Amino acid sequence: MNTQDSISDKRRLTECDDSGIDAVTRDTDVWLPDGNIVVIARNTGFRVHKSILAIHSEVFRDLFLLPPSAAEEETLDGCPVVWVSDDPTHLRRLFLVLCCGKKCVIHFIGVRRFTNICSYYYENDELIPVQFDVLYSLINMGHKYAIPSILNDALSRLKKYYPSDLSAWENYPQRARYVTIRPPDFLLAVQVARLTNTFSILPSAYLEMSRHAEQLVMMLPEFHDGQLGLTAEIITQALRGKAALIEGVTSRILAISTAVPAPQCPTQSQCALLAHGLLGRLNVSGEIETKLSCEVALQPLYDWFWGVAANALCACCQEASRRVDEEMRQRVWKTLPQHFRLEVDGWPV
Ligand SMILES: [Zn+2]
Repeated sequence: MNTQDSISDKRRLTECDDSGIDAVTRDTDVWLPDGNIVVIARNTGFRVHKSILAIHSEVFRDLFLLPPSAAEEETLDGCPVVWVSDDPTHLRRLFLVLCCGKKCVIHFIGVRRFTNICSYYYENDELIPVQFDVLYSLINMGHKYAIPSILNDALSRLKKYYPSDLSAWENYPQRARYVTIRPPDFLLAVQVARLTNTFSILPSAYLEMSRHAEQLVMMLPEFHDGQLGLTAEIITQALRGKAALIEGVTSRILAISTAVPAPQCPTQSQCALLAHGLLGRLNVSGEIETKLSCEVALQPLYDWFWGVAANALCACCQEASRRVDEEMRQRVWKTLPQHFRLEVDGWPV
């Protein structure tokens, strides 16, 4: 898939690099004493085992099969070198998982920890949340170097945070156990979803983005050339989705009210009067306005709308009003991709 890219990157870098092998910094953690090849990314060298990389990645395997050109016959600490174009931070995270069996450094909310198991995902068999930028590195490297185990594990984590079913989405504490994401990381989540064709991530990533749409607008002048994928187009897409979600909240509040009186209601005029009066009061007091946000679009509204007045409704009207609220809420989730003009096959899973 990316073999040719890697090869041309390698050649280009070899040609362009004018600082030479003397300027290479040896990575402190990924510098295995018995490693037999040095992979260099932007002047950071990683001494690793050629066979380990070749076993896991057909891209590395093909890269190693190429006959070295004269310029590439240089060595560092006696090992042949291979130049690649990757960000060394991304590559380092990949090599920590692939190559550093016993000693592995994990970065969790800025703290360096050491673990005996080479994993970003568990510590002493306990699930730990992985920082999004680590996941981003592993997805990009796993994709570029065609390493399914790395790629699938990382994507699986991301899918836990951006699920395709509503009940999982509502359980934020559970989602946050898997990944730590802060604005504007969700822009990169959208990027990797597109890169890896993992489209099921997109609707909830866009939903999260729409919650921060105003913040993104403010950031736009600082981010040139679509840095982090932040473009006017993506903000427009998020804002359109947000407007549609807010419109949905208005419709739902109205539907909760107009579901009363239910056809089987024994006290039609009494229940109708109650609904009508309550809708008017909430409107005049401005309480409806406070509910008009995309956060509310997926929350149940029945209890908020009726409050203690629900006790004065007949059982038929209570049931009818609650049902319409839930049906409409589920429909918002089912149509989430359309809100953001996304095409996601099989949504929701
Ligand atoms: Zn009734």
